[in-house]
Amino acid sequence: MNTVIADLGIEPYRSQQIFQWIWQKNAADFSVMTNISKELRKSLSEKFTISGLKIEKKLSAKDGSEKFLFRLEDNNFVEAVFIPEGKRKTICVSTQVGCPLACKFCATALMGFARNMKAYEIADEIRIIQREKKVKITNLVFMGMGEPLLNLKEVAEAMDIISSSVGLSISQKRTTISTAGLVDGLDYLLTSPLKVKLAISLNFPNEKVRKKMMPVAKQNPIKEILKLAREYSHTKNMVTFEYVLIDNLNDRLKDAQNLLKLLKGIPSKINLIPYNPHPTLPYKSPSQEKIKKFHQYLLLSKHTITLRKSRGREILAGCGQLAGGVIK
Ligand code: SF4
Repeated sequence: MNTVIADLGIEPYRSQQIFQWIWQKNAADFSVMTNISKELRKSLSEKFTISGLKIEKKLSAKDGSEKFLFRLEDNNFVEAVFIPEGKRKTICVSTQVGCPLACKFCATALMGFARNMKAYEIADEIRIIQREKKVKITNLVFMGMGEPLLNLKEVAEAMDIISSSVGLSISQKRTTISTAGLVDGLDYLLTSPLKVKLAISLNFPNEKVRKKMMPVAKQNPIKEILKLAREYSHTKNMVTFEYVLIDNLNDRLKDAQNLLKLLKGIPSKINLIPYNPHPTLPYKSPSQEKIKKFHQYLLLSKHTITLRKSRGREILAGCGQLAGGVIK
């Protein structure tokens, strides 16, 4: 925006005012920007329009979570989920239209991949949900559709809008970027100025099963991922390992033992996520008994262990269930 404003010969501080009107005050057109002269507002209106994502559909779950289907300017669709939990108001954000990584257990993968989202589109998911829900969003998880580390340039730019005090003003420390484990992207994150939390979807401690279920694992070995995760947790922030528990695939005690062996010496949190089934996929969540045993075994370790409550399952808003509302 700074460059556009400078090219028009307008004082640089005006760009900050306009930015604040759009991102913080939800201005839908220039006429409401009362701290800007009438002439300038008129000239801006002649040259530009303010547009945003369109809400195509909303679905609410009994637990208060709400799934938003957004239409983008090119008529593609993405989904984001609002998850309230006491004072904590979280949004699960999408970063790509679809996803090219084709994890076998994930509904988003069934959509294929259309394109990367632009920084302003990513940030707009948050602005619009915040406006609709009339609450201050406290936390963000980049865990919606897509692999954020494949769209790092736009994700980093979106973070500028999100964390700016004249933008959405959400701290990077309350933002988690979740990845399927891309070595190049992790390398970049380590050296970038971003201060976000990192979550890695490890899911399968057995490399052979991991390669079968998450094709991206073929080029990104667990050993390399863990080397970078160790560095990240020592130099930046404690890393969370996401573990989606799937019936008969990774839910045996042997898997729990292998997981702890792999994570030995890495200060980290393990987040167990019982699989959220999707009508178009053959996988199931393990029984409550199996989940309990797995969880209890991990609790004996030094890691912080959380067992994620399933949120928004009936509206297909759970982890791995987002599919842009377009799967036939
Ligand atoms: S689990 Fe994540 S990385 Fe894998 S296909 Fe789904 S959205 Fe992509």
